[in-house]
Amino acid sequence: MSGPGKTTVVIGGASGIGLATARELLAHGHFVVIADIDGEAATARAAELGGTSEGASVDVSDEASVAALFDGVLERHGSFDGVVNCAGVSTLSLVVDHDVAEFRRVVDICLTGAFIVLKHAGSRVADGGSLVTLSSLNARQPGVGLVAYCSAKSGLEMLTQVTALELAGRKIRVNAVSPGLVVTPLTAPAMDIPGIKDDYIANTPLGRSGEPEEIAAAIRFLLSDDSRWITGENLDINGGAHMQRYPDI
Ligand code: NAD
Repeated sequence: MSGPGKTTVVIGGASGIGLATARELLAHGHFVVIADIDGEAATARAAELGGTSEGASVDVSDEASVAALFDGVLERHGSFDGVVNCAGVSTLSLVVDHDVAEFRRVVDICLTGAFIVLKHAGSRVADGGSLVTLSSLNARQPGVGLVAYCSAKSGLEMLTQVTALELAGRKIRVNAVSPGLVVTPLTAPAMDIPGIKDDYIANTPLGRSGEPEEIAAAIRFLLSDDSRWITGENLDINGGAHMQRYPDI
């Protein structure tokens, strides 16, 4: 199925890229479960979007909570075809100053949380289903002050590929997308650092930051049967910022 009739769970769906993804999937005929640690916001967003959606509460760092989310979806809908995990947090601190508990918190949500989602989605999603993780340009491009985030996203890329290999026998595809800068509540605090956005744009061949909808469109493609021969892939969506630039000649 390319969209109509599919049931898809969007985790971290109450805000930013996840919310844009929920909107995109609804427009393409999916039934969308918007799940978020902020369950009230998830339910409110589902009510606002209308159509075939519902809200749910989940904490990706809590295994029982993730298992309960997917079991609830199975109880209510019988099966589900896809999951996109947009849950994410970040922090800004230099390595030498970094609070260890804060480092663990970011890794717990961005890496261990993604593992927990793939573990419980992988065992329950319908054969032939599609799972999408959210990596980042920062998985391969180090950022000053982003050690916890960069480390977690780097691990997430291998997690995605190992899971893709292991689930291929059931024709379940597992792919990542790696956005560059998209201004959302996650990245807004960093935008207060003077010059940071201009610097990013100067290093982006297409000369601008991205929009949540531009990430959502790629996620929809990876959830659809149009991408049925793609697995273990990581799609950079960043206006070309992953390419090293030398001075123009
Ligand atoms: P966002 O802050 O707008 O949305 C993240 C959502 O995740 C929020 O609704 C939040 O409540 C939810 N969340 C946080 N912790 C959670 C948990 N433990 N369990 C369940 N939900 C939780 O951020 P965004 O920019 O839309 O980011 C979405 C994903 O895209 C993240 O994984 C992020 O790392 C990744 N990403 C974002 C950018 C960017 O520039 N915005 C770039 C690269 C990658």
